[in-house]
Amino acid sequence: MKSFHKMSKLYAPTLKEDPANAELASHRLMLRAGMIRKGAAGLYSYLPLAWRSLLKIEQIIREEMDAIDAQEMLVPILTDEDLWKQSGRWNAYGPELMRMHDRHEHIYALGPTHEESFTDLVRNELRSYKQLPVTLYQIQDKFRDERRPRFGLMRGREFIMKDGYSFSANQASLQECYDQEKDAYAKICERIGLRALQVVADSGQIGGDTSVEFMALAEAGEAELVYCDDCGWAADVEAATAGVSLQSSGAGACERIHTPQIATIEDLADQLGVPTSATVKALALIDQEGNNVVCFVPGSHELNDCKAEKYFGEYHLMTEDELKEVGLIRGFIGPVNLPQDIEVYADCTLKDIEYWTIGANEVDYHLLHAQQGRDFTINTWVDVISAKAGDACPHCGAALKSARGIEVGQVFQLGTKYSEAMGATFMDVNGREKPLVMGCYGIGVSRALAAVIEQYHDANGICWPVSVAPYEVEVIPLDVHDEVVWPVASRIATELSELGVEVLLDDRKERPGVKFADADLMGMPYQVICGKKAVVNGVVELKHRATGERSEVAFAEVAQMLAQKITEQRA
Ligand code: ATP
Ligand code: MG
Repeated sequence: MKSFHKMSKLYAPTLKEDPANAELASHRLMLRAGMIRKGAAGLYSYLPLAWRSLLKIEQIIREEMDAIDAQEMLVPILTDEDLWKQSGRWNAYGPELMRMHDRHEHIYALGPTHEESFTDLVRNELRSYKQLPVTLYQIQDKFRDERRPRFGLMRGREFIMKDGYSFSANQASLQECYDQEKDAYAKICERIGLRALQVVADSGQIGGDTSVEFMALAEAGEAELVYCDDCGWAADVEAATAGVSLQSSGAGACERIHTPQIATIEDLADQLGVPTSATVKALALIDQEGNNVVCFVPGSHELNDCKAEKYFGEYHLMTEDELKEVGLIRGFIGPVNLPQDIEVYADCTLKDIEYWTIGANEVDYHLLHAQQGRDFTINTWVDVISAKAGDACPHCGAALKSARGIEVGQVFQLGTKYSEAMGATFMDVNGREKPLVMGCYGIGVSRALAAVIEQYHDANGICWPVSVAPYEVEVIPLDVHDEVVWPVASRIATELSELGVEVLLDDRKERPGVKFADADLMGMPYQVICGKKAVVNGVVELKHRATGERSEVAFAEVAQMLAQKITEQRA
């Protein structure tokens, strides 16, 4: 890439105002900085600034893939309907798969991912164990007709993904390929500048993970995570089964207590002077089959939708009318004296809690010391609560923290799912025909760019990490007509570019205020500000965008000094 560009030539139409319908910082700032433009829902053009960053992300990916002997190639975006039928995904993929036909009425799908294409590619030619393992990857536009395309590049209908596939002779070899990819993904995230957690998406039978998601930490993330600072364990709250420490409400005879004006579990805990973890709350719902269900969970925790659906299917919480109809009283539901025809479930964390503080099934009354076995029994124990900060790490017991995350990548052990379905076999050492053992590895290039901005921005704009910044330095002459300022600025820009630094020179005839605002918005890591007074004194001002730190540097030395700083920070 040419390393020195003039702002006057740059196609980056900036916006002064925040665009409507851009809730996320990354979306808003990319629009404002003239990095992306929307074509239609979920379809974006990448303008020059975005494209430079995307190429850098791709380059980092290529280098890390190269280091583990994964080979880059490219398969067609259009994929034959027949392949999807062979794998069984033509129907399974549903409306997200964008389908089309050619002039001969032959049907295709725009690839949302390419397991089928790669399996088809190798199935006739990767025939011997001697050729294995092989890992192939591509960086290409993917198409998914997302139900809700939104947040700019975060969830597009056309987006850039690196997708890779490994082919092995056996599970041990797959494990090796998978571990290498997983390590490479961690390095990629680190080099891009992303603070990311490895979240176990799926555990294998022998305890190891068979799929991990790379979650970039950001408030804007869709995923709710819990993680352990001590041992590095992390999970989606929907998958996590953390250790929940609950308080016992003490032993004793079952006591009926008057609790008027109690609207929430917090009110109850307050009145009794105990933490919510010493109380039990009840959720009344109607499951998919129409059964009336009461499910008890610790007062300190929430019912998790995703987990609950495993037991109750498409359930809904009872409405006021439905509660009345079955004889339940909102806020006062409990396991003692429940009306007929109600199935009783409780979260398994309550199993060891002998005495419960719980509703009395009577208006304005709760029970203290309702004892399991003596006063009530629970038929079915289930795992239905969301883990949360403070719960114990299931690995090491330390207190978990919570965060939100953006899924930027995922590695997955596929096994023989596709090779068996599609007849992709090889000859093993003993001359026996066996299905290839596969892994797949995806990372969202365009989503990663958005995730970087989520992690690196402030009120004025983007604060790029050096590794993926469109340019590393912006040189800002405050008056391009000045016969002292301009030559110094253009000399610094030339020197920097000769030292291999990527420079944007703001050669526009704009007011300083406009230049400063644009420089902060576009967010190059360093700004070299050349004002008349300073230049006359032999210095320029160096501003570090992220910290706002400013210093005066002799203009004869600034290029050398910056080049060194930047080299150190390049990933
Ligand atoms: P999500 O759960 O966010 O829809 P996914 O699990 O379906 O993503 P994968 O099939 O694992 O996604 O794809 C690999 C990577 O591609 C994801 O980790 C993500 O970075 C990226 N990606 C997936 N869908 C989109 C999209 N609609 N827009 C941008 N990037 C995407
Ligand atoms: Mg995924």
